[in-house]
Amino acid sequence: MMEETRIVLKRGKEESLLRFHPWIFSGAVSRIYGEPEEGEVVTVVDSEEKFIARGHFQVGSIAVRVLTFRDEKIDRAWWTARLEQACRLRGALGLADSEETTCYRLVHGEGDSLPGLVVDIYGSVAVLQAHSIGMYRSRQQIAEILREIYGGKLTAVYDKSSGTLPFRAELNPVDGYLFGAAAGEPVLENGNRFLVNWERGQKTGFFIDQRDNRRLVGQYAAGRTVLNTFCYTGGFSVYALQGGAVHVDSVDSSRRAVELAQKNVELNFGTEASHRAIACDAFDFLKDVQDQYDLIVLDPPAFAKHQRVLGNALQGYKRLNARAISRIRPGGILFTFSCSQAVSREHFRNAVFSGAAIAGRNVRILHQLTQPADHPVNIYHPEGEYLKGLVLYVE
Ligand code: SAH
Repeated sequence: MMEETRIVLKRGKEESLLRFHPWIFSGAVSRIYGEPEEGEVVTVVDSEEKFIARGHFQVGSIAVRVLTFRDEKIDRAWWTARLEQACRLRGALGLADSEETTCYRLVHGEGDSLPGLVVDIYGSVAVLQAHSIGMYRSRQQIAEILREIYGGKLTAVYDKSSGTLPFRAELNPVDGYLFGAAAGEPVLENGNRFLVNWERGQKTGFFIDQRDNRRLVGQYAAGRTVLNTFCYTGGFSVYALQGGAVHVDSVDSSRRAVELAQKNVELNFGTEASHRAIACDAFDFLKDVQDQYDLIVLDPPAFAKHQRVLGNALQGYKRLNARAISRIRPGGILFTFSCSQAVSREHFRNAVFSGAAIAGRNVRILHQLTQPADHPVNIYHPEGEYLKGLVLYVE
C-alpha cells in the first residue's frame, strides 16, 4: 500500500484543532511526509504523531482545510453523509420543500463542515462554487451525489468556480454544467419571483443571504418612498413594492444588474409599477439626493476583502452612511449592511455611529441583522459570521 501523506504539526499547534477550528495555517506545519498534490486529502498528526484531522491540502496561508476530526476515510459514503446532513438542516428550516421559497443555500462552507464549498439551489438547478482546490477536484463526485439525493428534483448542476479558485493554481477552470442544462425558470423567494442568471450574474447568481432582511424591508415599506442602492437584481426593491411602497428607485453601477432589477419588478407587478432602475455610482447618486426618500437600503459589496485594508473599508462605510443619514427624510428608516468578513460587528457599528455623528441627526437602532439560517455559522469557526446589518430610525 502507498504511504499516506502526513502533515506533522509543530508542538502546541494542535490546540486550535482540538477545539475543532477547521483551518491549519502553513506556519503551524513542521514537516510533511510524502509530496502531497494540491487538493489531495492528507492526514494531520501532532508532534507526537497522534492523529488530529484529515483534510484538503493546498499551498498558501491555509495549508489544510479540515474535513474531519475523526480517523475515518474520505470516500463516497463520507461525502454522501455530509451532503445529506446539509440537506437535513435545510429540511428542518422548511426550505427543502417550500412552496414559497425555491432558492436557498444548501452548503455554506465551514458552516456545513465542508470548508471551501458553496452550493446554492435555484429551483431545479444547483450552482456549485469551489473556493479550494480540493473541493474543485471533488466537484464531479459532489454533483453525482446531489443528483442521487435529490432524484428528479435536480435537473442540473452548474460549476461556477473560475472566479473563486486561487489564480496561481493553474487549473484553468472553465465554468459549465457538470450535468444537465439551463432551466431559465424564475425562482421564488417568500412568494416573490426572481430571474436568476447564474452563468453571467455575480456570485452564484443571486444574493440569497438577504432573504430574511428583504422581508423586513417589506414590512416597513408601506406608504414610503424607497431608495435601494447597490440593488443588484432588485431583491429589496421587489419586497418594498410588495409591502406597499409608494415608489422605489433602484441604483447599481452595473447596467446589466439594473436591467434585471427592472425585469424582476415587471415579473411581479407588471410594467406599471412605480419603479425606476438607475445605472449609477451609489456614492454619486446619494450626493444629489434631497429629502425625497423615507426608506433607504445600503447594501454595498465587501469593502474589505482582507484585514490589511480594514481602515479604508471603515472610512468607506462611514462616508456612505453619513451621506444616507444626512439625506433621509425625518422619521426615515435606514437599512445598512456590511458583508465584509474582515469587518466585525463592532467595527461596523462604530463606522455607522461615526457616520451618524457627521450627519448630526438623532438615530436609534431598531434591529440588528445577520445572515439567514441556511448560511449557518459553525460554532468552532466564528469567522463564518460575515453579514451584519442595522435598521436605524432617523429623526
Ligand atoms: N442588495 C443586493 C446585493 C448587492 S451586491 C441584493 O439584494 O441582491 C453589491 C452590488 O453593488 C453589486 O450589484 C455591484 O454591481 C454594486 N456596486 C458595486 N460598487 C458600486 C457603486 N460604487 N455604486 C453602485 N453600485 C455598486
